[in-house]
Amino acid sequence: MKNYWNLRLSDFAIAVALAFIPLVSDAQFSRPEEKFPTEEKYLYPIRPGQPGSLAGTMGELRTTHFHSGIDIRTDNKIGLPVLAAKSGYVSRVTVTPSGYGNVLYITHPDGNTTLYAHLDKFTGKVARHVLDHQYKEKSANVDLHFQPHQFVVKRGDTVAVSGNTGSSGGPHLHFDIRDSNNHALNPLLVEGFSEIVDGLPPYVEKVALKTLDINSRINDQYGRFEFYVQRVGNDFIFPTPILASGNIGIEVLAKDKLAPKSQFWGGVNNIQVAVDEKVVFNQNIEKINIAETRGIYTLMDFKTMRLNGNRFYKLYIDDGNELDFYGKSPSSGKIQIRDRESEVKVTLKDSYGNASNLSLKLRPTALTPSVKFLDPMKSEFEYEVYENTIMLSVPPCSDSSSLKVFYKSNEETATPTYGNENRSVYLIDLRKQFPDSISICGKSITTNIKAMVPPSIEFNYYSDEMDIQFPEKSLYDTVYLTTYHGLNSDSLEVFNIGSRVDPLNKSINVIIRPSQTYDWDSGKYAVYRVAGRNAYSYLGGSWRNGGVHFSSREFGDFTIMKDDTAPTINSVVVNNYIAKFKIRDNLSGINKYEANIDGQWLLMHYDPKTATIWSEQLKKSKALKGKLTLVVTDNSGNETVYTKQIQ
Ligand SMILES: [Zn+2]
Repeated sequence: MKNYWNLRLSDFAIAVALAFIPLVSDAQFSRPEEKFPTEEKYLYPIRPGQPGSLAGTMGELRTTHFHSGIDIRTDNKIGLPVLAAKSGYVSRVTVTPSGYGNVLYITHPDGNTTLYAHLDKFTGKVARHVLDHQYKEKSANVDLHFQPHQFVVKRGDTVAVSGNTGSSGGPHLHFDIRDSNNHALNPLLVEGFSEIVDGLPPYVEKVALKTLDINSRINDQYGRFEFYVQRVGNDFIFPTPILASGNIGIEVLAKDKLAPKSQFWGGVNNIQVAVDEKVVFNQNIEKINIAETRGIYTLMDFKTMRLNGNRFYKLYIDDGNELDFYGKSPSSGKIQIRDRESEVKVTLKDSYGNASNLSLKLRPTALTPSVKFLDPMKSEFEYEVYENTIMLSVPPCSDSSSLKVFYKSNEETATPTYGNENRSVYLIDLRKQFPDSISICGKSITTNIKAMVPPSIEFNYYSDEMDIQFPEKSLYDTVYLTTYHGLNSDSLEVFNIGSRVDPLNKSINVIIRPSQTYDWDSGKYAVYRVAGRNAYSYLGGSWRNGGVHFSSREFGDFTIMKDDTAPTINSVVVNNYIAKFKIRDNLSGINKYEANIDGQWLLMHYDPKTATIWSEQLKKSKALKGKLTLVVTDNSGNETVYTKQIQ
């Protein structure tokens, strides 16, 4: 009997277990962690179990990169405990004044690594180790990799204190989950954190349609046109059909509201386009290769971002686009207008599956030379290079008989491609040859186009005034390179290289040969990129064989300037506990700062966004006493020294 009961009991236990297994596995297999099978779930690293909110999502379009993780709000406070999301070991710590600031990485048994950034401080043994290292190396900047046995952490351990270090716009915790190939995963898909509730679908503000070649038109015109959409419930429509012909690209300005009353918006990772119910394009930002986040410049409309700050998602794949977000995309998404009206439906989904749709109609139309409506023009002459074409729009003039296009060895006359009584629009195809100048209405326009630079192969441009080397794959698309050398309105010698609305994937290597003389050996001269009105960004450069050599990751205007003004040091507080200063430089920027107390190196932390440096002693209990010396040096070698005897 006893045996029997034992048997029965164990059968019962198995039966109970079996009854529960389907439930458990249903729950597990409907969740994304199915891909990352470990026993532990990821813990929400800030106040787990309490309602949380986000200020940013993974995949979001930032100016220079895809946002690789989630930004967890910390009530605008610095100092919240940051908990290890999973057990593992601290594998890396970095400290830099900009970027992520203070960062901690934890590697977990599943092979993934979690990253915690903009930290105010590290805690415990890691904090001690970092401080010792800073004093040993006499450097505030740190990049330390650790072995698995050194700093073991358990899920839920406090590993750091949240902050606002680096290039952070306000206190928050930036949190990434990366796989072993250094691809950032979407934390909201890896773990459906119950702390975050999002029931709101993506929001569409505008749609843009773009002609993709010289024979394409939107409302009878060539170019890129934006349309405000109307909201109907959770969906969006553009109610009247848009006339179209040729090859068309669609773009959307869309974002995902993160919570009903939040001022923060996230990105839209999943966007699908269907034409007459047939899917033609599918973007799914599932993983981000950390080494290639600059690929963002081909996913969003770079020119529009540069001109007005709006980040439109392009819903078509450019030739130079090597991102792997389009695995399920049946085509490039470029829409070929056929002979009947098409219904375009764009479906946008957030990480929680909330979806909205945008609908519009494209009505085919034949190319026509007479256009009823032309957009009001900002300037008298409009000149633009776009998609292998020069577009020139001009008002009527007495000598409007013809436009002359001057090439190196020949000239051609052209009649307007389309227009009306107010304006004439000329389209000039650049693929065969590009003109040096164009004349119309008694005016002459110099194109400054010097070369057609292909996107994928290495390309070298040589001239008397400058040489430019484009490494392989430095462009995303063909660029008609413009160069110009002259004086600007401030009598500065300026070298123009390309247009700032064209993105660069890699740095170009440049040699410029100035016509003015600069005392380069003084060390005070450097190359700067003109970044705006009276704004210059330091590039450095070196003088060799009659030219200045430098690299730039942006097109634009470059100039040479002298910085012989030393940085400024203003003391904020200097006492037995802390020494704190504001340091600034007028032009070339802060290069280094070093403090000593009675000849002993003193650690100074630096926050460029507030221009502040402050001390931290190796032994907290020790009073700051003796002769404090602080030396701040700019990029042109100008030095300012501050000394004070602390009693
Ligand atoms: Zn972030």
